[in-house]
Amino acid sequence: MTKKLGRTAVAILVAVSLLSFACTARRLEPGDGPDARAVLEAFTTRGLSDHLEALQRIADNNDGNRATGTSGYEASARYVEEQLRAAGYTPVRQTFTFEENRRNRDQVESFNILAETGGSAANTVVVGGHLDSVRRGPGINDNASGVAAVLETALWFKEAGITPANRVVFAFWGAEEDGLYGSQHYVDQLSNAEKDGTLANLNVDMAASPNGIRSFHDGDGSDFGDGGPEGSKEIEDVFFRFFEANSLPAETTPFEAGDSDYDAFLQAGIPAGGLFSGDEEKKSDAQAQSYGGTAGQDLDPCYHRACDTIGNTDTELLQEMTGALAYATVSLAMATRG
Ligand SMILES: [Zn+2]
Repeated sequence: MTKKLGRTAVAILVAVSLLSFACTARRLEPGDGPDARAVLEAFTTRGLSDHLEALQRIADNNDGNRATGTSGYEASARYVEEQLRAAGYTPVRQTFTFEENRRNRDQVESFNILAETGGSAANTVVVGGHLDSVRRGPGINDNASGVAAVLETALWFKEAGITPANRVVFAFWGAEEDGLYGSQHYVDQLSNAEKDGTLANLNVDMAASPNGIRSFHDGDGSDFGDGGPEGSKEIEDVFFRFFEANSLPAETTPFEAGDSDYDAFLQAGIPAGGLFSGDEEKKSDAQAQSYGGTAGQDLDPCYHRACDTIGNTDTELLQEMTGALAYATVSLAMATRG
């Protein structure tokens, strides 16, 4: 099977997933999601671009970047905190230190921002994206787009009056670009009971790639061989349902060790999944047919470069990916353990 979800592949995948549903005990049983089309519709009119513009302005006013340990990171954090507070959350900073230069053992301090909903902490859903940029540029696709998706999902939860059965922790990770330190710290400081009480991690790292694709992680490894812990397949299925219900072509993408903030969760045995619109890979002919854009060119030609500005984003793609995140977040916030 090709990794792209054409219509035939969709039918096969649905059949396969129903089959494996019948055969395996599920550790995670997502609740009935909201109407996937209504969620997509809701996110076509929400303020995602406002967040990208705000984070671009912050980079412009702070030496062109929002990297760990800089004034641009601090300003980015304040922006996110203000938005969360205005919506009724109580964001907290979770500080950590790491060695910037392993030879000199220079300690750098940074922080994550965490904001949680009510709901059962024994079934916590962590929905995150990294807040820091690389030093070389403003990091708008990577990862202001993921920040916008997580933030807007959090704001929508409040405005839509969603009362989650499970606690949702919205997380804005620090020092991802330096080595995934923020998310690693979050997982490391959990007790074993808290790890067991973490139902799932959803990650968004690049959701507006200008020549992008719609992809979500291959939770069971059926497409790429390396799946996540048990339960990751059910997360994959939730994203699949969203795109299918909206007749939006989408495909799976592998988890890559060391690539993004899901890594610490996977290592700890916590089911994970998430969204990715592509970085340095070239768009294939088949992808250009499915998504438009230019075959043979990078999915994000400005990946980790100074030109990763607001001009390097696809707003419509970001709306669709954020709809998918919001849909999956609700489904998991209503999930039970099978
Ligand atoms: Zn990133």
